[in-house]
Parts: sequence; structure tokens; C-alpha cells
Amino acid sequence: MNIHEYQAKELLKSYGVRIQEGIVADSPESALEAAKRLNEQTGTSWYVIKAQIHAGGRGKGQIKETGSRGVVLAKKQEDVPTKAADILGGTLVTIQTGAEGKKVNKVLIAEDVYYPGASEPKEYYLSILLDRGKGCNVIMASTEGGMDIEEVAEKHPEKIIKEWIDPKFGLQGFQVRKIAFKLGLEGNAFKEMVKFITSLYNAYVGSDSSQFEINPVLKTSDDKILAVDAKVNLDDNALYRHKDLADLRDVAEEDPLEVEAGKSGLNYVKLDGNVGCMVNGAGLAMATMDMIKLSGGEPANFLDVGGGANATTVEAGFRIILQDPNVKAILINVFGGIVRCDRIANGVVEAYRSIGNIPVPIIVRLQGTNAEEGARIIDESGLKVSSAITLKEAAEKVKKALAES
Ligand code: GDP
Ligand code: MN
Repeated sequence: MNIHEYQAKELLKSYGVRIQEGIVADSPESALEAAKRLNEQTGTSWYVIKAQIHAGGRGKGQIKETGSRGVVLAKKQEDVPTKAADILGGTLVTIQTGAEGKKVNKVLIAEDVYYPGASEPKEYYLSILLDRGKGCNVIMASTEGGMDIEEVAEKHPEKIIKEWIDPKFGLQGFQVRKIAFKLGLEGNAFKEMVKFITSLYNAYVGSDSSQFEINPVLKTSDDKILAVDAKVNLDDNALYRHKDLADLRDVAEEDPLEVEAGKSGLNYVKLDGNVGCMVNGAGLAMATMDMIKLSGGEPANFLDVGGGANATTVEAGFRIILQDPNVKAILINVFGGIVRCDRIANGVVEAYRSIGNIPVPIIVRLQGTNAEEGARIIDESGLKVSSAITLKEAAEKVKKALAES
């Protein structure tokens, strides 16, 4: 699960990570209020207004309606509400949002941290993620902050520092010092970076995150190290033990069909093919998608209804699949192990009747306990559904349905 920058920064701060301070706002008036409060708290007189969407590249991105950038600087407090108004409610298009962009409902009013001083402010890159190949967390750091890290990785792979963390021992002090040293830091900035990385790693582990990306990490002109940006990806499977973090979910940022599916306990991922599918079990769903391709179709979605498929989950699945206008046929592929095939067949018939007129052919392949009984229920229902027992039979029926559509 992704969270917004302002939420991510609060999380980091609660672990003692120094951040660019800010206050979130949802209107020009509250943006001005936020600027005033921020001035009292930090003494800043310049402000950065940052669009809050679940996508990066905001600084270079543009608001469709007003032409404003997604991150802008206000050198006067009275400019904050007008500049916030140019972002709020607008559609921000960045390299990560696609051409349709994302609606901005909130802005973060942040202190300006690029103030002049003894040295030039310098941007760094830091991320923590799980290296699945090595089976442990890895910290990645670079002096090339503020830039697109994929580009750095491609053109200057030697500029990316990597430190793998042994899960038995956790992050060791010498590893943190090695990173700070390789980043070319010394004196107070070195000590600050060591503290920064150590507390950042504690935040990563403590929140059960699967990815942190801090780009840029800033060394200020007076040698403080702080997070200017924060991308945090929480592990969905651990949210049950972080109630406070689970509450940070912003459904406005997610695919509406996927949100609806989640409410019914379904695992749904929209794809762009023409054959909708409903399957129990993720592995069987993958195999079914392969089968659809072999029969000349393209899967319109991935949908795992889970182990306890019944009329209610099947109906929820139907309704979600049918909202996709590209769907020309639906294939239901269920293995009746714990749940018997005749029960699933009855569930399909019930769900079909409850929805009413379904405009596309449905092929139901049931295998396992009471498969024949299930097939008989489907075939005798008098509805636009046909049964199949083998995968081959199901594939042929999908092919035929597509040819006729
Ligand atoms: P992203 O573009 O979505 O990754 O958003 P960031 O939070 O990384 O901000 C984009 C850019 O805005 C940064 O790389 C900085 O150059 C600039 N920026 C952010 N905070 C400040 C600030 O306090 N002062 C100034 N002058 N620029 C800032
Ligand atoms: Mn950034």
C-alpha cells in the first residue's frame, strides 16, 4: 500500500528521522493558515507547495488546467494561497501518472530548506527495499540525488552504493558509516547522515515496509541531513498489525474496480484483454490466463475468488468483470476441493439470475468433487452458460464464443 508524502514524513519523524517540516492543506485558506503556523514553528519565510498524489515526478509535472508545476516555491506568505489554488483540484500529469494525470486533493505546505549558507545545499539519494534474490534488505545510496535513479543505474551504475543487511544481525554501525563515507561526507554532515540512515532503517523495519525511497535527501547549507521527499510502500500483508498505518489508505488514489473487489474479499487486477475470468486460487488463475491466450483470447483480468467461492462472491465477481466494456466472454474455472462443484454451479446460476441479463457467453469449467453434478446444473439452467470439464474443452468453447462475438 502506498501512502502520501505528508503521511510518510510523519511516519519517518516518529522514528526520529529529520524531515523537511510541513503542514498539509486542502484549500487556499487552510494553505495560508498552514504557512502561518509553519512560520511560527520553524521561522521559515519561504514555502514550498507540494501536490500530494501517489506518484513521483511532481516537480517537473504540470497541472493540466493551470499550467502550474506540481511543486512550487513561494517567497512570500501572501503568495501561498494563490499558488496552492493553482494546484488544488487540478489534474497533475507527471512521467509516472500517464497522460490522464491524477487529481490533486491536498497540498503539503513545507519549509524551504534550500536556504543559502556556509556551503551549497546538496541532494543525495537513499532507498531501502527487499532484495528478493538475496533474501534480505538492501540500502541503496547515491550522490546523484534529485535525479531519476533508473537513469543513474543505467548510465553510472558505479555511482550506486549498495549495502545488504543480514537479517540475523540487523543493520550494523560499520555499514552505515561505510555508506556515509562513500557519499563523501565528513564532519557534522557525516554524523548526521549516520543518524539519518540508522533511524530510517528503524522506521523501515518498524513499519513493515517493503520500500522506502527518499529522493532527495538533502545536506543543507549548515550541514543538516533531512528528507525532502518520501515515498513509502507498506507491506499489505503486515497491515493487520499496524492499524494506525492501515488507516492512512487513500482509496481515491486506487483503481475503483480494484477497491470494489477488495471490499468483497476478491483479488482482482484489471488487464486489457477480452476474456474475463474468475478462478479460485492464484496459481489456477495464472494457468487459466495462459489457457485463454492459447485459445486465441487475451485475459481481461486476474480474479481470484479465494477458497470459499459461493453465490455472493461469484456475483460480486460477475459484477466487477461486467463493468469492463472489453469483455466478450467470461470463463469461470473452479476446482472443487473444499467447496463442492455442485455448490459452485448453484452459486453461478443464482448469481446469474440475480444480475439478470448478462450480454456475454459464460463458460464454466468445474473440476473436482461432484464435477458431473455441477456440469448438469449449468447445462440444465436454461441460461447463456455452458459447461466444460476438461481444460481443453473450456479452451475450445472460449475460442468458439470469441469467433461468434
Ligand atoms: P518529486 O518531483 O515528485 O520527486 O518531488 P520532490 O519532493 O522530490 O521535489 C521536487 C523538487 O523540488 C526537488 O528535487 C527540489 O529540487 C525542489 N524542492 C523541494 N523542496 C524544496 C525547497 O525547500 N526549496 C527549494 N528551493 N526547492 C525545493
Ligand atoms: Mn522526489
